[in-house]
Amino acid sequence: MELIGLVYRFDWGKIGNDSLVAQLAALNNPGFKLQDNLPYAQLCIGSYPGDIAIYKENGEALSTELPFMLKVLSMNKAISLHVHPNKIDAEYLHLREPKFYKDSWHKPEMAIALTPFVAVCGFRPLSEIKNMLMDIYPLQKFVMADSDDMDLLAAGDEQGLRNCYERIFDRDLEAVTQCVEEISKEFGKEMCKYDVLEIFNVLKRDFPRDIGVILIFFLNVIRLEPGQAMFADAGQIHSYLAGDCIECMTPSDNAIRAGLTMKYRDTKHLSNILNYKSSTAEDIIVKPERINDQQVIFKPPIEDFAVTQITLRPEDDVYVLQTEQSPGIMLVLSGQRTLEVNGVKQTQLKRGSILFLPFEVGTELRFLVSGAEKEPFVAYISTVNTPPNLTTDT
Ligand SMILES: [Zn+2]
Repeated sequence: MELIGLVYRFDWGKIGNDSLVAQLAALNNPGFKLQDNLPYAQLCIGSYPGDIAIYKENGEALSTELPFMLKVLSMNKAISLHVHPNKIDAEYLHLREPKFYKDSWHKPEMAIALTPFVAVCGFRPLSEIKNMLMDIYPLQKFVMADSDDMDLLAAGDEQGLRNCYERIFDRDLEAVTQCVEEISKEFGKEMCKYDVLEIFNVLKRDFPRDIGVILIFFLNVIRLEPGQAMFADAGQIHSYLAGDCIECMTPSDNAIRAGLTMKYRDTKHLSNILNYKSSTAEDIIVKPERINDQQVIFKPPIEDFAVTQITLRPEDDVYVLQTEQSPGIMLVLSGQRTLEVNGVKQTQLKRGSILFLPFEVGTELRFLVSGAEKEPFVAYISTVNTPPNLTTDT
């Protein structure tokens, strides 16, 4: 069943036809009118109240409740630095402040890069943070009251990081601006050492007088090549800074913002929800499971969702994907194929096609070549994250 996804024009989106979101929307939705001067940030496919996709055939809303949403993001500038709650925190926030937290879902999320992609996610190792604070003195002066926190960091005690980070939330904007200027003047070489120089300069320009420019120093810098993925678990602070990606997450809008935003920053709840556990950039990367030349599965360490990537060459004239029975959403990024389900020809798939695969579709999807193919067929399918058991037959 073909779907039409929802387009969001947040100001961080790429402009006009430069945006992958706009390009896909123009092919997905016959009624979509692309405007050259507007940002197109997100193409969203889900069943969540605010983000309901509609059936192409009759315009009715997708009625099956899915435990995940699939999105395409096309970024011109950074998305807010934020944290998503775990299940317990989400229920608490929704109960206490339903105006800001409209549902009680936890919200882990995974991003699969479609272009070179830059993000910050999770705290750096404590020893690295300590070295960075020693190297960049204005930052040390800004976050440390005395030498006790340096001793805690040196001893590998997370409390040292917590003390420093929470101190940033309390500082006024004049102090933030002064710290940013001091770092900017003399510490280019040191920022290079920690891979933050370019990020710092862009964020300083795009978000003047914003504490996010300082908060990012403590976080792992994640640089993905197309086809690589990262996972941000609930509680893990993150921001996507540049690039295009496929994003999969639970159906929720719950985000507690820390910086790089004009929206509401909930520092009251942030401290409790933030997970101060350190990790390396390598820990954030999702290692995909390669089934064969055509199929890769990205399985984050949660049950809610997984994403299968199918890449078919023109000579792959028949490809059979066998899956666990699960509802799914398919998004086609390039090429053409005819989809056959349980022996019945169903749909012509092409760039921009979005398909809802109901539970009843069963476990076998057959992709048939539908003409003289020149470019590879690439599609992403989100499902629940059941045990692998995905086998193939070509
Ligand atoms: Zn997020």
